[in-house]
Amino acid sequence: MIKVEKLHKSFGNHEVLKNITTEIKKGQVVSIIGPSGSGKSTFLRCLNLLETPTSGTIWIDGKNLMDSKKGNPKIRQQIGMVFQHFHLFPHMTVLENLTYAPIKVKGEKKAVADDKARTLLKRVGLAEKEKAYPSSLSGGQKQRVAIARALAMEPELMLFDEPTSALDPEMVKEVLDVMKDLAKSGMTMAVVTHEMGFAREVADRVLFLDHGVLVEEGVPAEFFISPKTDRARDFLEKVL
Ligand code: ADP
Ligand code: MG
Repeated sequence: MIKVEKLHKSFGNHEVLKNITTEIKKGQVVSIIGPSGSGKSTFLRCLNLLETPTSGTIWIDGKNLMDSKKGNPKIRQQIGMVFQHFHLFPHMTVLENLTYAPIKVKGEKKAVADDKARTLLKRVGLAEKEKAYPSSLSGGQKQRVAIARALAMEPELMLFDEPTSALDPEMVKEVLDVMKDLAKSGMTMAVVTHEMGFAREVADRVLFLDHGVLVEEGVPAEFFISPKTDRARDFLEKVL
């Protein structure tokens, strides 16, 4: 589904991603972990061209993401992204948050978009909140709306950048549960997370980044129990 080959990204002369080659298969959940500043967010942002790679190639479903200068907009529409700080539209209701892009970008009829949005809100347990404004929601509810909003575009791939890091501890589970459901439904997902429990339990593969280098990747059962590199071992000792 996604193939990344020799991806480099520099900001000025600071090389933040160094020669990353990997792939994510359809239906796989990949967790990206590593120390702060190791390039996890930049990597994720390159996957949907929120950052332009300095060099290298990214294929999504066999199509080169960098085909045109601005990236291939049709492919980019197939990629949903969820951020640490939700980024909901504050002046729109929950329902409008979900229907805005499908109507505006995909040209869906309002009635169709509304229907689909309601189904998604049910799925994330927020059916009763469709008329609420984001400011009246808890962090966990906001993040579930953000996930539903991304799903409203019917993406093939979902990217999550530390989706639970800004939440109070008691709200982490409700968001992870929605993500687990999504994983079970067969969604292809790349998840930057500090939730090692999620990585262990849900991910098919773990990518460990350090200083912009993909130091190690493997299945969670192996990675968490017997990491191959000292750098991964040191990191795991600190976070587990
Ligand atoms: P992580 O998500 O693993 O914490 P990031 O991908 O956010 O790491 O950042 C990796 C490195 O790139 C950091 O040193 C950060 O300061 C730098 N960086 C990230 N975004 C930018 C930017 N827009 N301009 C300059 N430097 C950046
Ligand atoms: Mg980050």
